This record gives sequence, structure tokens and C-alpha cells, in this order.
Amino acid sequence: MSIGPIVIVGGGHAAAALCAALAEAGEGGRVHLVSAENDLPYQRPPLSKGFLKKADEAIAHHKAAAWYAEQGIQTHLGDPVVAIEREAQRVLLRSGAALVYQHLVLATGTRARTLDALPPRLHNVHVLREAPDARALRTRLSEMVTTGRRLTVLGGGFIGLELAASARQLGLEVAVLEVAPRLLGRSVSALLAEHVLAHHRGMGTEVQIGVRIEGFEIQGDRLASMQVGGSRMAVDELVLGIGAVPETRLAVACGLAVDNGVLVDAGLRTSDPAILAIGDCAAFLTVDGARLRLESVQNANDQARSASATLLGREEPYRALPWFWSEQGPMRLQMAGLLPPTSETVRRVGANAGSFTLFHLQDSLLRCAESVNAPMDHMMSRKLIEAGVPVDRTALADPAIPLKSLLG
Ligand SMILES: Cc1cc2nc3c(=O)[nH]c(=O)nc-3n(C[C@H](O)[C@H](O)[C@H](O)COP(=O)(O)OP(=O)(O)OC[C@H]3O[C@@H](n4cnc5c(N)ncnc54)[C@H](O)[C@@H]3O)c2cc1C
Repeated sequence: MSIGPIVIVGGGHAAAALCAALAEAGEGGRVHLVSAENDLPYQRPPLSKGFLKKADEAIAHHKAAAWYAEQGIQTHLGDPVVAIEREAQRVLLRSGAALVYQHLVLATGTRARTLDALPPRLHNVHVLREAPDARALRTRLSEMVTTGRRLTVLGGGFIGLELAASARQLGLEVAVLEVAPRLLGRSVSALLAEHVLAHHRGMGTEVQIGVRIEGFEIQGDRLASMQVGGSRMAVDELVLGIGAVPETRLAVACGLAVDNGVLVDAGLRTSDPAILAIGDCAAFLTVDGARLRLESVQNANDQARSASATLLGREEPYRALPWFWSEQGPMRLQMAGLLPPTSETVRRVGANAGSFTLFHLQDSLLRCAESVNAPMDHMMSRKLIEAGVPVDRTALADPAIPLKSLLG
């Protein structure tokens, strides 16, 4: 096993989980955590949910500053890495500092996608990715509650829809515009997307799908209106919820293999074995040999654990089952597995009013499950997918038959 410094670039979920895994192995003293953010790693999911609704809610740090000090982890906050020198095995920070590494781990996540047609820094156009975005947006939303202005969300993906639901719960008028013919792109089934659409309309949000955005009218430092499907739509405040792009600029600049994410092997090693990549920025190999890049807390946490094993000289290939959750007002979605291109779908009514799970099967094997307010069924679905045993459709659909009994 090697004994040199491990430099982690990034201060998000993957970086925090890797710090925890290395500290648990007694290796904290080798670790440098370098983050572009001023805050220590914190939970990102609340930023589009509870955090926006409670004026006094603080961000939730993974660990306090004292913990990093106790573990011997050196933190470098608000000081992004600006270059990787692979030959010298060192990184340069914006402050001018240089850190030598034996192993480097890229955990740089994603950055919010923006629109070329919109000039940067318009006063009433926002993205939601990091704590400063959420703090600014929370202030703006609370002003809007008193002034009665409308929030427009461009994009019907998870973050846009969570934000729309939070804003509705605050009492704001909200419009969601989605260019695609359905919400949530291809990350959920068409059946679930229909349910989500009805849920948001039921909450009083104006949701338009399949819209054409033909232009933007800028006045000074504000977006005044948009041309939508031939009509002019006035804009009070706009949030861009149009997805994220993997933050691979450092990797590209130092010549690592990149294709919609930093390419990694089963041990999370990049094309340079001294450099690993984990979390949202990494495009990994699935058991079927396909390339996949996921944006989820599960993926960040589990890849951090596999990367820690690689760094400690054990080989524990990344094979974790993907799962995800999203809270949109009173609706909690939980997904397990990956939606196959074609599947047979079975619906099971859940224990709570209006709750259900959609099971997607291929050749009698459960590949993916989508639960709405059915947390116990979600948990059992994960076990059923992992077990890889054939399941009976009739039994799956019957809420009187416990899912546990199908495990065999
Ligand atoms: C508002 C919001 C809500 C979400 N809700 C959910 C949810 O409900 N469920 C779920 O599973 N997932 C959710 N996600 C996604 C989840 O947060 C991400 O998948 C997860 O944060 C990925 O972790 P990561 O460490 O790979 O990247 P990130 O957490 O994005 O961290 C990347 C870090 O790298 C830093 N960085 C980038 N470049 C540099 C550099 N050059 N030098 C130093 N540091 C750098 C960034 O500043 C950042 O700190 C949500 C995301 C957002 C933004």
C-alpha cells in the first residue's frame, strides 16, 4: 500500500464520503480536501426542498470543521484547483499554492447548464446548484411572496420540479415550461411522468410541455419577457432548471480521457492510474460494459467507498445498484435500478392513500421500480432487483402478497 498524499478535488457529496471512508481506515492524515466552495461539504438535496421554505434553516454540513481537524484532513476552501501537472504529480490552486499527490481524486461534480442566448448575471435569472445560489433564491422567493410576483421555471427535470413545488408551498404563482413533450426527460417512465404532471397541475402550477422558446427580451440587467410558442410571456423571476454538465475542464486540460464525464474503470481509475474520478463527474463502466454517468447522492457515496478501496490497495469494483429520490411537495418519488429501453410494467397499490409502485420487468426479472409515497415497497424493490430472481407479475401487483415473500 502507498503512503503518499491523497488530494481530493471537490467539496461535495463524493468528496465528503471519500474523506469519511479514508478517515475510517485511519488514513485521514494523508488527505487534502480542495474545494472551490467556501463552505465545508454539505448536503445538496435540501437546497431545492426544505431549505428554500424555511428562512432560518442552515445548510447541513456532512461533518463539522473539528472532525476534519481530528482526522488530520487538511481542508483548502474557496481555493479551486486551476491546473493538474501529471508529470510532477501536483496540483496548482488559485491562491498560488501547490500540492503534491501520490493519488489525486477528481470529485468535481457538475455545473448548472446555462443558455447561450441569455447574457450571464441577469438580475432575475437564477440557477440552483450550490449554497450561495440557494441562499440568494430563498431571499428572492420570500420577497416575491410579499410582492405577488410569479416564478417561471425553465425545465421540467428533478431540480426544477422540486423548486416549483417548494415555491407553490410558499404560496407563489409558478409556471414550469418544458421543451420536451414530457416531464423528467428519460429518467422516469412515461407513466410516472404523467402522474408527476398531474401532481404539479393539482398543486396549482401552470405546466406547459412541448413548448417552443423563440426568444428573450432583455431590458438593462433584467430578462423582461420570453417569446413562447408565438406569444410574449412576461418574466418576473426565472430559474434555469435545464440540467447540468459534468465539470471535466481540469481533466480535459491535463489530457485525461473524457466523454460526457471523466472515463473511469471499475476501480474508478482514470486513463492515468494515479488519478481517480468519482461522483457526478465520472463516466463509469456498468456490469454490461456500457458507459454511464449518474447524478445522485447514492452514486457519489458508493463510488467514494469503491475509490477508497482502490486507494487502500484493495480491489472492490463499483457495482452498486443505482437508486434515487426526489421530493416534490407532498410527493416523494423513489427509483431503484435503471429503466430498460423496453419492459413490461406492473402497478402495485401502496399502503398510503394514492401511493403506488411501478415495476418494470424484462424476461420476468425486475429491472427498475418507481415508487410514489411507498417507501417500504421501494426498499423491498431494491432487494428484489439485487436478488435477480424471476418474479411473478400477479404477485407483484397484489398488495396483499408481501414483496418480501417474492425473494425466494
Ligand atoms: C438542488 C439540488 C437538489 C438535489 N437533490 C437530489 C436528491 O433529492 N436526490 C439525489 O440523489 N440527488 C440530488 N441531487 C444531486 C446530488 O446532490 C449530486 O448527485 C451530488 O451532489 C453529486 O456529488 P459530487 O460530489 O459528485 O458533486 P457535487 O456535490 O456537485 O460537488 C462537486 C464539488 O466540486 C467542486 N469543484 C468543482 N471544480 C473544482 C475545482 N477546480 N477545484 C476545487 N473544487 C471544485 C464544486 O465546487 C463542488 O463543491 C441534487 C442536486 C442539487 C443541486
